[in-house]
Amino acid sequence: MTTLHIKNGRIIDPATGRDETADLFIEDGKIVATLPTEAETVVDATGLWVVPGLIDAHVHLREPGFEHKETIESGTAAAAAGGFTQVVAMPNTNPTADNARVIAMVMEKARRLKGTRVIQSCAITKDRKGISTLDYAEIIKQTGVSIFTDDGDGVEDDALMEKAVQELAPLNAVISQHSEYATISKKAAIHQGDVSESIKVVGQPIDSEDAMVRRDIALAEKYGARIHVSHISSATAIDAVRDAKAKGLSVTAEVTPHHLQLTDEAVLEAGTIAKVAPPLRPGRHMDACRHALADGTIDIIATDHAPHTMTDKAGTIDKAAFGMVGLEIAVPIILDLVRQKVISPMRMIDAMSWRPAKLFDLVGGTLAPGSVADVTVINPQRPHVIDPRTFKSKGINTPFAGFEAPGKAVMTIVAGNVIYSDLA
Ligand SMILES: [Zn+2]
Repeated sequence: MTTLHIKNGRIIDPATGRDETADLFIEDGKIVATLPTEAETVVDATGLWVVPGLIDAHVHLREPGFEHKETIESGTAAAAAGGFTQVVAMPNTNPTADNARVIAMVMEKARRLKGTRVIQSCAITKDRKGISTLDYAEIIKQTGVSIFTDDGDGVEDDALMEKAVQELAPLNAVISQHSEYATISKKAAIHQGDVSESIKVVGQPIDSEDAMVRRDIALAEKYGARIHVSHISSATAIDAVRDAKAKGLSVTAEVTPHHLQLTDEAVLEAGTIAKVAPPLRPGRHMDACRHALADGTIDIIATDHAPHTMTDKAGTIDKAAFGMVGLEIAVPIILDLVRQKVISPMRMIDAMSWRPAKLFDLVGGTLAPGSVADVTVINPQRPHVIDPRTFKSKGINTPFAGFEAPGKAVMTIVAGNVIYSDLA
């Protein structure tokens, strides 16, 4: 029997709308209303936020196959240090997570580490090649996982995507799409616009994102499917999601910390380190992301944590790998948005815990008594300069080095066990 008493923190629990200074009690991995005797461990949380464990629905753990970039161990350590109690891993591994064996292997390995929980998502198409569908019902039956994505690529073939949606909709699975028609984007390094023209780099037209979002919304409407737009970045795609929601469709969206904080001008300074898919876009798109996050059109924040070696990120902008790390910068970066009053503390925790839990049918997301004791403690007023040299992640590819954030996650608790602490 293990017990924990977190004293005098600011409890923020979007599931119940609770926002007050109070104590939180944990017993045997569950949140309880009170304890009969003094707890074994008492944590003074005066001045700190005590929130349901943060959930990152979009990370690349790179294992199996790319352990030189990240492993399940280093990725979950980074997650814990970033305040995340649960992550959803993308299937672009080698071998691809398109079958029960690989999915179970990743989740079992993570379970043995007893740290941040890992849900391994499954590909939509065989080997993420966009050519054939999978036996979704069998995979769900064997793994219990019902999140499907070809992340890294969009499912380009319209007929194949329709077949996948038709099969996944009755299974109540979440279909998460990396919205990019490569035939339109040509996988160009950056956004097509003033910046790409000024430095004479081939840019990708924004319609590569918009067109796929529109297509998938139409499929959500036709089949009643749960469509989730990964890392939305375009103002026009956001408008399409807003319209879909107004129609009552099961269409949801996520935004990354970097699309909320950076524009395509970051490429001018950071070069390949700011190369990411979808690309950073001009300010009006960043502003649209911020507004849509605040008004709920964009449901959740997810990092798209994409660790690479510096060799992968070296060379010319057209050759370097897409992606940047996110797990250890997300809370600091989003606290800065709270400081700027872009979103409230309640909306931040809603978008980083309660909504991702609901949207992907995950445990956690609330501090209500009886819930699993996944808890994050945040110090919103502990100035924190982002320093990649301190990362637990193998990836240090971030343009946010030196960013001065107002605070950070200081304790991460999974099932009542403290897996990260930096209370200082
Ligand atoms: Zn992606």
